[in-house]
Amino acid sequence: MKPMNRPLANLDQPASSLTQAEQLLQFQRDIMETIALGQDPQLALDELCKAAEALVPDSVASIMIFHQSDNKLEVRAAPSVPEEAVVAISHLQPGPSAGSCGTAIFKNEPQFVSNTFTDCRWADLQQFATDFDIRACWSMPIRLSNNQPIGTFALSSFVERPPTDFQIRLLETSAHIAGIVLRREQAEEQLWHVAHHDSLTGLPNRMLLNLRAEHAIEQTRRKNSRLALLFLDLDHFKTVNDSLGHHAGDELLIQATARILACVREGDTLSRLGGDEFVVMLENFTDSLSARHVADKILASFSKPFRLQQHEYLITASIGISIYPEDGNNIATLVQNADTAMYQAKASGRNNYHYYEPRLTEHVQARVAMESDLRTALEQDQFSVHYQPQYDINGKDILVVEALLRWQHPTTGNVPPDDFISIAEETGLISEIGCKVVRMACAQCVQWWSEGLPQFMLAINLSPRQLQPGCAEKLTRLLNETGFPVNQLELEVTESMILEKGTRAISELAKLKRMGISIVMDDFGTGHSSLGQLKTLPISKLKIDKSFIMDIPDDANDAIITRTIIAMGHHLGLKVVAEGVETPAQMKFLKKENCDFIQGYLLARPLAPEQFATDIYKHKKTGKK
Ligand code: C2E
Ligand code: CA
Ligand code: CA
Repeated sequence: MKPMNRPLANLDQPASSLTQAEQLLQFQRDIMETIALGQDPQLALDELCKAAEALVPDSVASIMIFHQSDNKLEVRAAPSVPEEAVVAISHLQPGPSAGSCGTAIFKNEPQFVSNTFTDCRWADLQQFATDFDIRACWSMPIRLSNNQPIGTFALSSFVERPPTDFQIRLLETSAHIAGIVLRREQAEEQLWHVAHHDSLTGLPNRMLLNLRAEHAIEQTRRKNSRLALLFLDLDHFKTVNDSLGHHAGDELLIQATARILACVREGDTLSRLGGDEFVVMLENFTDSLSARHVADKILASFSKPFRLQQHEYLITASIGISIYPEDGNNIATLVQNADTAMYQAKASGRNNYHYYEPRLTEHVQARVAMESDLRTALEQDQFSVHYQPQYDINGKDILVVEALLRWQHPTTGNVPPDDFISIAEETGLISEIGCKVVRMACAQCVQWWSEGLPQFMLAINLSPRQLQPGCAEKLTRLLNETGFPVNQLELEVTESMILEKGTRAISELAKLKRMGISIVMDDFGTGHSSLGQLKTLPISKLKIDKSFIMDIPDDANDAIITRTIIAMGHHLGLKVVAEGVETPAQMKFLKKENCDFIQGYLLARPLAPEQFATDIYKHKKTGKK
């Protein structure tokens, strides 16, 4: 048989110029980077194998998974091993002479076989060793935190040899990292299923409906056909629940699910949104009236009584229908409108269906109201800016101050930005609001500095909508107007903005950078930018999203991600700031990991201008916060 491909040494840096400890650290960092950036687990495991091979010449790495149910080992990753060898070794049963990996699982201990032809642990695999020229093989169990083995990480060598101390540490590290990837993958799969299904009926939930709808709408648009949503609500479900109990209510929902499923085709999606609300998504028809036939069929299937707790009950349903593209071009609008139509069906006597009739829904009304409130807010100066400092890692010096928008609504009081920024974006009002923030914050800082307050960089958040052609010119005007020095401005943008807006956004950012403005990547880690993309962006700083900071140092995954983002940022020559720092333990961890700056409630909350000036002045005098 064909011998295995010998992997090429492929380190960026010649391995010989690094000490072994440095090699191990670099190895760990590179792989962790792949993992933290949300790489596909298979890719991460393949990379892990290749990276280990690069450090041990004349060897190939493999990761096997132990399936407890049938007591077998399967190859999960072995990028340099030929297919014939993978096939020959699959279904390996653990035992005292089942090679290094089979024995490692059998004994739940590392196995370092330095000569496969003489060692009794390889007795069962002599043919395999001969066919593929394996002379030595070292295997390390991959374990769960309770010590249960879930697989192995192994290096098979083409020369007879025992592992060196360095190679043993490499095996330990690799098995540990493989364990992280595998556990995370498993948890993600379970989470995905739980997060996308209804536990009572097993039907897709709203989230999965949304995902499927996105795809279906795209298909429908391309084929120029139609898609219908049937929003179904049981009539008087509450009465069943109240009089027969929740158990009977659950039973009814399960039986109703079966009846509806029998009325739809395989490609259609039935989902449960919650309570007694179901949505059927019908794809691929051209006549919008055909949705009526399905609705009729469902209503007919409800004409037979349901059997609950040995009694029969007649329970009907009401259905609202909305059609793409007539009644909305996204799933949220279609569901909303089908829901409205369902209420019309209830209002006209229940046990029937109703098509949506275009008119203002409550949602639209609320949006319109918010939009008009935002316009008034602009006219009547209801917006203000609060200021939150960013400190050096010791919490001593204030280096940057972030401007955060505040809205004091005359009747509802303080409205948090998360509640209105998105509507301001949708309606385009964000441009005007954004200008207002820049003007207020810049003017405020210029005034402070003229009064003798210490200098700092001013950071301002930028919405994707604002990053349009002409953005740079507009900013220049505002800076000139207020006399604010351009090189003391930072703009915080998000990963999603760059991914969504693409190269035009990037070139606009590059223009801003050339003007002397620093660009910061906000909420880093929540999007999907890759290391490669990061390298090409005109940014100077990364801000680690507060969701990662929240659970450090206790949450091991978040700690690894935070550590990796810092190392990776530094590797790319970027400064790294952590936001949302609330505890001394978080600060200590960040300091240990060489994070550059910190921001959060621990050191200072966002403060109104007067408060900020008083505090920062005090801070300057005492030299600390
Ligand atoms: P962001 O840019 O990520 O801002 C950080 C948010 O975290 C702020 O919320 C801040 O008050 C909060 N925060 C700061 N330290 C801590 C902490 O230690 N713990 C916790 N839990 N939170 C902390 P805020 O002010 O409500 O702003 C929310 C978001 O609204 C901002 O997120 C930003 O995306 C947006 N925003 C705020 N002002 C503006 C603005 O002027 N323009 C634009 N386009 N967006 C803005
Ligand atoms: Ca920010
Ligand atoms: Ca942020």
